[in-house]
Amino acid sequence: MLIDGHGRTVDYLRVSVTERCNFRCQYCMPEKPFSWVPKENLLSFEELFLFMKVAMDEGVNKIRITGGEPLLREDLDTFIKMIHDYKPDIDLALTTNAYLLPQTAQRLKDAGLKRLNISLDSLIPAVAHKIAQKDVLAQVLKGIDKALEVGLGVKINMVPLKGINDNEILDIMDYCKERHIKVRFIEYMENRHAEQSLKGMHGREILEKVKEKHTIHALGREGASPSFNYELEDGYEFGLIDPHKHDFCENCNRIRLTAEGNLIPCLYFDEAMSIADSVKKGDIQGAADVLAQVLKDKPKENRWSEENPNEEDISSRAFYETGG
Ligand code: SAM
Ligand code: SF4
Repeated sequence: MLIDGHGRTVDYLRVSVTERCNFRCQYCMPEKPFSWVPKENLLSFEELFLFMKVAMDEGVNKIRITGGEPLLREDLDTFIKMIHDYKPDIDLALTTNAYLLPQTAQRLKDAGLKRLNISLDSLIPAVAHKIAQKDVLAQVLKGIDKALEVGLGVKINMVPLKGINDNEILDIMDYCKERHIKVRFIEYMENRHAEQSLKGMHGREILEKVKEKHTIHALGREGASPSFNYELEDGYEFGLIDPHKHDFCENCNRIRLTAEGNLIPCLYFDEAMSIADSVKKGDIQGAADVLAQVLKDKPKENRWSEENPNEEDISSRAFYETGG
């Protein structure tokens, strides 16, 4: 079992397979970064997998593949199959913008993938275009349909932004209800890579919007899940991911691995340790030692504050690098 320096069990590893993306979401990567990590610096699937085996052997039982846009990485289904074959009962999921799902969903499912989280911020083509800075909506909706058709579990992530898509919270919820899928509203997390004029909605404001049409009943957090769950009058459940809330980090169970091998203990902070040298040499003990050190140093909590953000509440971590 993996325990961090604050006594929390860590059993969840998020693995970013690329920082590159086919969208330029304003809250994540409004412009193409000045320089991408050169392709030769990316770890191969075999190298990433060597570390993942260490983590799985020591107690990780949930893995999420993310990015950038993970479906841009060639042969992702082969990677999924490697993980699935090693531990068929692992809770294996992927986060995607869905753009490439029409042509990849079946292969992902066949490789052993069980669940997808899909980002859907608007049902209005012009608004989706404004957020992603590309005309994406029709293809994203096709991708969601395809994922459901092949039998993948789907959850929707929406980041409500003031003056942009805040009037679509109920519409996105209805879209999800009609398809019997869960929506999770994510508070915008301030970071230096985002378009700086954006204003996110606080969790409390998101709930107020939902209450305009529904009565809601708080269910609480599901284990160490970052999502606080609520139920509507008709039993439909939705989630709120509220990293600005003071107790958000109490049960944090996750660490993150980037495509170039940086192991990141917290989404907010810059601190990271590299496993690249160890996995390139096939040094399992070296990788395990880095993992132990990162767990020991894992911060107690993030610094997004519940009040209006000031300078030190803005993370310098890029979401497209860590995978959110
Ligand atoms: N490209 C994939 C996608 O968009 O789903 C996976 C990577 S993306 C970085 C993972 C998640 O992070 C998405 O749900 C996205 O909405 C969320 N995200 C990115 N930047 C964010 C921010 N500043 N605040 C809150 N959520 C953010
Ligand atoms: Fe790409 Fe996902 Fe970031 Fe949007 S949120 S720019 S889709 S990595």
